[in-house]
Amino acid sequence: MKKKIAVIGGGTAALFLAAFIDMSLYEVAIYEKKSTLGRKFLVAGDGGFNLSHAEEMAEFVNRYTPTDFLNTSLMSFTNQDLCEWMSSIGIETFVGSSQRIFPVKGIKPVQVLNAILQHLEHRGVQIKTNHCFTGWSANGNLVFDKSRIIQADKKVFALGGASWSKTGSDGAWLDTFALKGIQTKEFMAQNCAFKIDWPKAFIHMHEGSPLKNIAISFDGKTQKGEAVITAFGLEGNAIYALSPDIQKALSTQKSVSIFVDFKPMLSKDVLLKKIKDAPKNISTILKQMIKLPPSVIALLKDSLSKEEFLDIEFLSDSIKKFPMTLSASAPIDEAISSSGGIHLSAVHPNFELVDMEENYCIGEMLDWSAPTGGYLIQGCASMGVALARQLNSEKA
Ligand SMILES: Cc1cc2nc3c(=O)[nH]c(=O)nc-3n(C[C@H](O)[C@H](O)[C@H](O)COP(=O)(O)OP(=O)(O)OC[C@H]3O[C@@H](n4cnc5c(N)ncnc54)[C@H](O)[C@@H]3O)c2cc1C
Repeated sequence: MKKKIAVIGGGTAALFLAAFIDMSLYEVAIYEKKSTLGRKFLVAGDGGFNLSHAEEMAEFVNRYTPTDFLNTSLMSFTNQDLCEWMSSIGIETFVGSSQRIFPVKGIKPVQVLNAILQHLEHRGVQIKTNHCFTGWSANGNLVFDKSRIIQADKKVFALGGASWSKTGSDGAWLDTFALKGIQTKEFMAQNCAFKIDWPKAFIHMHEGSPLKNIAISFDGKTQKGEAVITAFGLEGNAIYALSPDIQKALSTQKSVSIFVDFKPMLSKDVLLKKIKDAPKNISTILKQMIKLPPSVIALLKDSLSKEEFLDIEFLSDSIKKFPMTLSASAPIDEAISSSGGIHLSAVHPNFELVDMEENYCIGEMLDWSAPTGGYLIQGCASMGVALARQLNSEKA
């Protein structure tokens, strides 16, 4: 007789697990509290759907915090594997100029989700929506909505993190696990904006200004990318990728300093020469020859004294290493992802809970982090596939 697998939570990790479970060995049902599956997967599609990233896997695995936790899963289901699998269900992908992997133009996020759901339906995966997991019964069965009891041989939790709660991923399950004696960790915003107290007049003029092709450094790490100046502070991929380190520092300090290189493609010597050799006033040089946007020129003028601004050595240093003070992260609900949740020491390397046999946790509900840009979806997908393969081999 087939054993029963109950997958609780119907997001990215759950969908990939269900797609790779051997249906000749197991009966699989996904229990999701919302009325539809994959809401965060769809939200991820709103602003450029990065399914993965085309970076070499040797580099790819280093994007994760902590770095070693997901290596085996990522190497067993790589970015290339994800693209090939997507293609097998009719979703072709392409690598953008940023090396991010997207569905080909014209394919909407909902079409990607529907292709996955149709594939699961075709495989015989049962989908049970409007089922909210609320705990375990005395004999270890699953309890939904406080009273519906469901028996399964293996229980795979894929409950997501604690941001964008309207998608269903609200982290409300944390206390249920903590009460059961499972080690949990407070959720923390990741891939999030950070607060900067901009001068009023500056933000009035420059709110929404993009800072393209910059590099941000913090605590020995540098991230190239772009950011946007907002009324709250700074957001965008160049700062998101540094969020684990910034968050760690902000948990013990009131504020931290980051350093922005507004011209990472120009060495300081080249920059200095360009400014020195130009026969115009400095603001015109910065605008026309160095091609700094008005927001950056305004930042330099606001923060440097007149003497410093006219001192081209000092000015070049400031363009290459401009300090900004961050005092807080944005609210967790606005973050792209979260860390915290189930403590990594609470699960074996095969994702089984140390203190609860046959109960597994995968996806963003575990305490790890990665930059946006495809690494999150790939991490969740790889965990789902890795666990599916392991369960297949156990039964075989
Ligand atoms: C705005 C935004 C943009 C993003 N863009 C990208 C991107 O471009 N690339 C990328 O790689 N990643 C992106 N992400 C992140 C990515 O979508 C997530 O990391 C990933 O979907 C997490 O998958 P998961 O399976 O762990 O959890 P989720 O997809 O969050 O799924 C968890 C599911 O569990 C359900 N659930 C929760 N509690 C219960 C309960 N008690 N009972 C039953 N069900 C429950 C939830 O309703 C939810 O459906 C983005 C996220 C956001 C918010």
